[in-house]
Amino acid sequence: MKSLVLERQDELSLRDFSEISKAEETLGPRDVRIKLHTVGICGSDVHYYTHGRIGPFVVNAPMVLGHEASGTVIELGAEVVNLSIGDRVCMEPGIPDPTSKAARLGMYNIDPAVRFWATPPVHGILRPTCVHPADFTFRLPDNVSFAEAAMVEPLAVGVHAATKARIKPGDVAVVMGAGPIGMVTALSALAAGCARVFVSDLAEKKLEIAAGLSQAIIPVNVSQQNLVDIVLAATDGWGADVVFEATGSPQAAAQVFQPLAPGGCVVMIGGQSEPISYDAGAAMVREARVENIFRYAHVFPRCVGMLSSGAIDVKPLITRTFAFEDSVRAFDIAASASPEDVKLQIELPQ
Ligand SMILES: [Zn+2]
Repeated sequence: MKSLVLERQDELSLRDFSEISKAEETLGPRDVRIKLHTVGICGSDVHYYTHGRIGPFVVNAPMVLGHEASGTVIELGAEVVNLSIGDRVCMEPGIPDPTSKAARLGMYNIDPAVRFWATPPVHGILRPTCVHPADFTFRLPDNVSFAEAAMVEPLAVGVHAATKARIKPGDVAVVMGAGPIGMVTALSALAAGCARVFVSDLAEKKLEIAAGLSQAIIPVNVSQQNLVDIVLAATDGWGADVVFEATGSPQAAAQVFQPLAPGGCVVMIGGQSEPISYDAGAAMVREARVENIFRYAHVFPRCVGMLSSGAIDVKPLITRTFAFEDSVRAFDIAASASPEDVKLQIELPQ
């Protein structure tokens, strides 16, 4: 199977890849075989390419990249009843042990045994086909394209964050960071009922894209403007009900409580590779609630539903699409992190 393989840090190749184990390719009774259609390039894929590791996860052997995917069901396990051959689907990339304590408590995303695509040593899906549990495979309505469906994975992070924030209709939110996750978080916060979402970043181009997503999104360029002053001025000095930290920058994270209203909620989304400090005193005087998220749980069907109804439109976030043959070039462009690009996707031959 021709696959996009991260051979080691800084070295990608598109080649026949036989290292995927027989067990991984064998269809279990509750699995489906899927022909991949569209795969989004995630910041984590790029990070493995450029750094060879993310925290404790180290690329020690060639690994297939990709985990944001849609495709078509081509084979059914004997016990699968919720899907049919030919169904267009998107897939949740993390598979927990269903009997684990975390899974039984409903927190399957933080099951320590979870196997997640393109997280060493588990292979990703920039390859023609894969085998996946039917329970983590979601049928698409006709009006949701493969490209939109491959956005469900990053969108799920934003929807999970908005869910953790317990947004109420009319809330004011701040999203720090206008990367792909910041953008889907802003869209999720609006879908959850926010009246207004301030999105901050240093890159003007990213802020323009964010502002174009909705009239209710207010861009704040923190290289020229003071986020706290703007939020306080817009809220009669009260502050934002929810602040989402989606930069992963320790400097930004240190400021999360400044624009927050009394009794507000901060949701930490951006990954931090080192311990960081934040202003516990500012949190205390606000009785701030702080939530942390790790990926998502139970939100893929909600994301598909919102794409289908039009409650959320991710199409403006898909800025470039590449043929599978051009995957290495696509990753090099993604690694260059041009501010005009939000999400790059790769289409597999059908
Ligand atoms: Zn991703």
